[in-house]
Amino acid sequence: MMRGRYASWFCLLLGVLPQAILAATPEDCAVLRKHGKNADAHLCYQSLVGQRAPYLRAEGYWGLKMYQDANEQFGLAVSQSDGNALYRIRWGRLLHERFDNIDADNLFKEALKRDPQNAQAYLGLAIVSADGFDNAAIEWDARAIELDPTLVEARELMAILMLEDSDTATALKQADEAIHLSGDALDAMAIHAAIEALADRSPDAWFEKIRQVNPTYGKAYALVAHHLVLNRRYEEGIAYYRKAIELEPDLWSARSELGISLMRLGQEEEPRRQLEQCYDNGYRDAATVNSLRLLESYKDFVTFQDGTLILKLQKKEAELLHPYFEVVAKRAMARYEQEYKFKLPKPVQVEVYPNHEDFAVRTLGMPGLGALGVTFGEVIAMDSPSGRKPGDFNWSSTLWHEMNHAYILTLTHHRVPRWFTEGLAVHEETQASPEWGDRITPEILVAIRDRKLLPVTELDRGFVRPAYEAQVLVSYYQAGRICDYIQARWGADKLLEMARSFARVETTADVIRQDLELTPAEFDQQFMAWLDRDVGKIAANFDQWRKSLRELAEAAKGNRYDDVIQQGQWVRNLYPDYVYDANAYEFLAEAYKAIGNKPQARAVLTDYEKRGGQNPAILKELASFEEDLGNPGEAAATLDRINSIYPNDEQLHRHLGDLWLAQENFSGAIREYSAALAMHPLDGSSAHFYLAQAYLATGQMDKAKDNVLQALEAAPDYRPAQKLLLQLEEHTKGK
Ligand SMILES: [Zn+2]
Repeated sequence: MMRGRYASWFCLLLGVLPQAILAATPEDCAVLRKHGKNADAHLCYQSLVGQRAPYLRAEGYWGLKMYQDANEQFGLAVSQSDGNALYRIRWGRLLHERFDNIDADNLFKEALKRDPQNAQAYLGLAIVSADGFDNAAIEWDARAIELDPTLVEARELMAILMLEDSDTATALKQADEAIHLSGDALDAMAIHAAIEALADRSPDAWFEKIRQVNPTYGKAYALVAHHLVLNRRYEEGIAYYRKAIELEPDLWSARSELGISLMRLGQEEEPRRQLEQCYDNGYRDAATVNSLRLLESYKDFVTFQDGTLILKLQKKEAELLHPYFEVVAKRAMARYEQEYKFKLPKPVQVEVYPNHEDFAVRTLGMPGLGALGVTFGEVIAMDSPSGRKPGDFNWSSTLWHEMNHAYILTLTHHRVPRWFTEGLAVHEETQASPEWGDRITPEILVAIRDRKLLPVTELDRGFVRPAYEAQVLVSYYQAGRICDYIQARWGADKLLEMARSFARVETTADVIRQDLELTPAEFDQQFMAWLDRDVGKIAANFDQWRKSLRELAEAAKGNRYDDVIQQGQWVRNLYPDYVYDANAYEFLAEAYKAIGNKPQARAVLTDYEKRGGQNPAILKELASFEEDLGNPGEAAATLDRINSIYPNDEQLHRHLGDLWLAQENFSGAIREYSAALAMHPLDGSSAHFYLAQAYLATGQMDKAKDNVLQALEAAPDYRPAQKLLLQLEEHTKGK
């Protein structure tokens, strides 16, 4: 009787399934499936279900997609053979396929306890880590390859991981190893196809090779789609996902990705249909379920639309946020139209999420989860200021950043490396306002001090698969400073020239050689020298700064104001960008305030503001000093800055409205009183009254009258409002 692998090859040759299949192994069935012999594979798995050994039955049920039964049989197999590593590994792979990475991870680790040199167990760990763009994936997979250099799947995974990191050369090498080892390394062939597609060459020859092995291997197209989407080439990615499910309609992972990618382009109808189909067929991973829930929540959003901008805001805060977001969005668009010399072909859609979890759904399956905003071509999704702690981020700066992506992605037809896209957007934030953009944080300083910045040709890796916790943040900073450096040395047009070079799918190394006339190594060296002149001293002083700040905090805590004043400025100068929790500015301002020196307290906080400090409470204190010291104009400007950070503050709007009304900035006052009212205050009568005055001053009689009436409706005895109403009626009669 024929057994094992020979039997399966025999079946393939004959295209029929002889009785020998009764002795088939799980590997035989897998080969049939891999070659697209689905009917034979089905019979093969059925024959496994008929076996007595629980492990074989588990594999059989799994092959028949009877996951619950497979799970039970694996449990039985493991309980009967506690020392068996393979059963645990295979069970882990099933659980991974069914979205349970935690239990899968545990099973692989248990297998390693039983067989410490098991390459398959390391591969399992790598597969689980790869889901979250975890750097450990590379280490686990490298270990698997080291233990078993002939493990094709581990080579294929390494090729995928390397291509995710934009390391095309290593990806190719690993893919070729896999193909060399096995004639049916379909994923390795798909990686070749992806590399061709990314380089704008035809991948057809590779798809033809894949078709010869398996004419219905949809996953190859899905793999290419994955890499296109990762490189922000959404439209093309979608086309490949469509091909994947055309070939293999029950490839639910690809159908789900298709739905999610369509959502990213702002669509709702088709994504809902595709995702529901996945869900109804039992494909319920976090991305599918959360995306469906997000679609459901769209009914709680309002859309404001004109020819160039679509603003999608949550109902509860739409009225408040609308004017602020519209102004910043339009200002950014005007700036980029001028800078890049073109208009976006379609209106740009900006979605603002007060619930961070809803926003996080938009970034599921993408690297960089900590982000505040994300841009998919002409759709921008971002956190609402109300979704985060006041002062946590500057939404105007974030919107400015994301809007830059919309222009650069369109300008380059989405062919631009991540580091350049991010660097340019960070650079543009600080161009718009020196107070915007992220400050140099302690983590960044430490990375600079410890020489952990990446060479420019490897910088993409810092965004996609960070090797240490702060590396994403550090990479944003580095990329931004690289663009600052290029502008300072070669001028702003050089950045546009580079963007155009990237659009021709040139590599970072080539673009630097051609456009900057330097080798990448020379560029790195000269950039680092420039950066070192700027922040090297601060980085070198870091430990001393940390120690001194601690002492300053203790002096402040003990109310030793003289010490604080004596040491504070020195500590501030050691690291002027430190505007975060417990900073020298705050301690100094408190000390000056305590000894009654308001002008100095104000000077310190003005410095804090200029350095990009954005704690609303501290900025409000600055505004009150400015007002007390007889400068209401500056006080108003300071309060208006808070609108860029945290506009969800009714008192702020009222006070700013008062200041501007007194300064005869009527349009500003109208906006601020309207904002206060948009927050539905318990007592709206005074805000309506002042709003009426501002309308009166600008000659908008109808609106003035309307607001006086609303003030009186809430408070009929409100004398100033009664007087104003009379005045308005006189005015109407007089006409
Ligand atoms: Zn960005």
